[in-house]
Amino acid sequence: MKVPFLDLAAQQAEIADEVLPTWQAQFTSAAFIGGPEVAAFEREYAAYIGVEHCVGVANGTDAVELALRAVGIRPGDEIIIPVNTFIATAEAATRIGAVPVFVDVDEEFLLIDPAAVEAAITARTRAIVPVHLYGQTAPMDTLGTIAERHGLAIVEDAAQSQGASSTVGRAGSLGRVAATSFYPGKNLGAAGDAGAVLTDDPLVADFVRNLGAHGSSVKYVHDRAGVNSRLDAVQAAVLRAKLRRLDGWNAARRVAAARYAEMLADVLGVRVPTTRPGNEDVWHLYVVQVADRDRVFAELGVAGIGAAIHYPTPLHLTAAYAGLGYQGGQFPVAEAAAGRILSLPMFPHLTADHQAAVGAALAAAMTTGGTER
Ligand SMILES: *Cc1c(COP(=O)(O)O)cnc(C)c1O
Repeated sequence: MKVPFLDLAAQQAEIADEVLPTWQAQFTSAAFIGGPEVAAFEREYAAYIGVEHCVGVANGTDAVELALRAVGIRPGDEIIIPVNTFIATAEAATRIGAVPVFVDVDEEFLLIDPAAVEAAITARTRAIVPVHLYGQTAPMDTLGTIAERHGLAIVEDAAQSQGASSTVGRAGSLGRVAATSFYPGKNLGAAGDAGAVLTDDPLVADFVRNLGAHGSSVKYVHDRAGVNSRLDAVQAAVLRAKLRRLDGWNAARRVAAARYAEMLADVLGVRVPTTRPGNEDVWHLYVVQVADRDRVFAELGVAGIGAAIHYPTPLHLTAAYAGLGYQGGQFPVAEAAAGRILSLPMFPHLTADHQAAVGAALAAAMTTGGTER
């Protein structure tokens, strides 16, 4: 049995009857950008996350950039970013001319390590960007204390955590401002690129809305040189329909994660992921760790199992950031994990049969590895 890494077709099928008539009406009336559908989604998503304001933007990378600019980040400012994340988190800082300052992650959950954050703070540090990676919330309580002590802004990267929560609240509502992405493969995905900025602060929300509309709140009155980053009405229609199903889909992911944990408990050499105490995980990714990962990855591929690696290269070792002068060995936890992590198929419509096939293929790959594991 072939198992895809991600099957979005089943999600699209569930919402088709709701979305297609809306799209038809939008096509006919040419209501493409902004408008009532976007405003309705922004209200609904803000309520879902538990913040006052949601501002739709064009994608998640823009969302991080606009959120950073909204808290006053300027060229030369230092922004602390975990080294194990999608490159977009750092690109957002780079696009402003700010300096990404990388820190290591913790060994157990591969989330930003608060002790490493504290050690990286300098007189030029202005913000911390915790990434709620793989579907669970970074340690926001500790990070909040650190940020307060040093007068730093917290800008959450909540792209992988739609619906996740911790003891202190829902991901996306835990900093001064949060950014999220509705890239199709996220837990809440559009039918193309989309993103949003979330905040309780009306000034931050107004600034992001203005900046994303060419620095303009009144047509052809430009307060600043902004950018073009807006949410399309056609995407809002998809997002509204999917938002109504998000809790159910996240629950299905939790069932699938529990099934993997049970199934893989006895497979020697496979370390299954765990959830921080007090967190409710939405399992954007299900990331196991194995020795000899590249071989295991290849064998899964031969067996028809779609696996992936998030992420193969810690950011400080990418060509993109070679210029910052980091060395191999500087972030030992992330560097070791990068050679061991393996993301198994995970999506709401993953079936028990799919998972049995994944488990069998992984067990077989671990056995052929012999003693070297
Ligand atoms: C997907 C993602 C982004 C960027 O989102 P885009 O919509 O693709 O620009 C940012 N940060 C993280 C952690 C992501 O996973």
